[in-house]
Amino acid sequence: MDKKENLINSNLKNLGTESAFLILAKGEELKKHGKDIINLGIGQPDFPTPNHISEAAIKAIKDGKHGYTNARGILELRETVAKHIYNFKNAIVDPTNIIIVPGGKITMWHAILMFGGKDKEIIFPNPGFPIYESLINYSGSKPVPYKLSIDNNFEIEIDQLSDLITSKTSLIIFNSPSNPNGSLISKKDMDNIVSILEKNQHVNILSDEIYSRIVYDKKKYTSFLTYPQLRDRVIILDGWSKTYAMTGWRIGYGVWPESLTPIAERMNINSFSCTNTPTQYAAVAALEGPQSCVDIMVDHFNKRRKLIYEKLNEIEGFECNISKGAFYSMPSIKKTGLKSDKVQDLLLYKLGITTVSGKSFGSYGEGYIRLSYANSEENIKKAIKRIKDFSETEGWNNA
Ligand code: PLP
Repeated sequence: MDKKENLINSNLKNLGTESAFLILAKGEELKKHGKDIINLGIGQPDFPTPNHISEAAIKAIKDGKHGYTNARGILELRETVAKHIYNFKNAIVDPTNIIIVPGGKITMWHAILMFGGKDKEIIFPNPGFPIYESLINYSGSKPVPYKLSIDNNFEIEIDQLSDLITSKTSLIIFNSPSNPNGSLISKKDMDNIVSILEKNQHVNILSDEIYSRIVYDKKKYTSFLTYPQLRDRVIILDGWSKTYAMTGWRIGYGVWPESLTPIAERMNINSFSCTNTPTQYAAVAALEGPQSCVDIMVDHFNKRRKLIYEKLNEIEGFECNISKGAFYSMPSIKKTGLKSDKVQDLLLYKLGITTVSGKSFGSYGEGYIRLSYANSEENIKKAIKRIKDFSETEGWNNA
């Protein structure tokens, strides 16, 4: 280890990463060298941001709205978010407790750092969004995974969850609909989870609801905000990235319990001050404008979801369930006899398809890969045909 490395804060060694970004870079590199790459890796809508949203940002710049804003975000946006929460999550929140941040991830960062530290335990889904475990490790607390499995449609086993809670548990993370597996916590399971939380008053909750508008089969979405008994210890993470195809705009919001809002605000001030101003005006336009753009995107995702479910199950060695939300499918590849990393690399380097190894989502992700179906039906069909042809001609045994 050289001297400079010795001087770097040792906590940083505990930071993990989100492999989807590394795979995206690899795919782009291969593309540059003329390889025909189909992206089923990164989780971002393949649609342009609706025009009325972009226009609102342009107008904000032209109107001179380009200075710092309130660290919590402009009031107009926080009021609009509160209205949106009332309409779509069926809950009343005070705009004061809404904190606007540059992307959904920041609420995760703030919440995990806030409740992390020595002698604390944080419970999180595994396989789950990789940044949870990364930040838990960075925060110095003990990561305590709850296992999700395709055998149970990736649903939370309530007894297992209950058994993991100790007096040291400071935070439990939920993510519904889920990245990476598309599962959705049902109202009945939510009720059961809430009754466990009621018995454990010391536990705080981070509910990652970034995919809450992408739910299929007319299933009702239940937010943790609809349980008033939890309000003083539940943090909601949501944002615009997935719902309005705004991943690169970098904007999200957190709903915080009254007592924690000033701390979250201070965390904003200490890092980025406030969220990009024109983007905040674009976010107002997204929530105030026509919602048909969301419905159209969700309709497309729904068709692709059915396609991917049907076609993946026709591939020897692959088994998948149908996702209920978000735009991910997480087939088991155990019957190929290969490890997840190997399948990910084979698909990329041999077949030109980016996917993400299940292992990137935690230890219990071994035996799976994640496919994002935020790509056209045509490309999904092309990708699946490549995999099917490979399995029927060369076969997994010879890989
Ligand atoms: N939470 C989950 C479960 C995600 O999948 C993502 C992005 O992929 C985020 C949070 C972060 O969203 P954003 O891009 O708005 O930071």
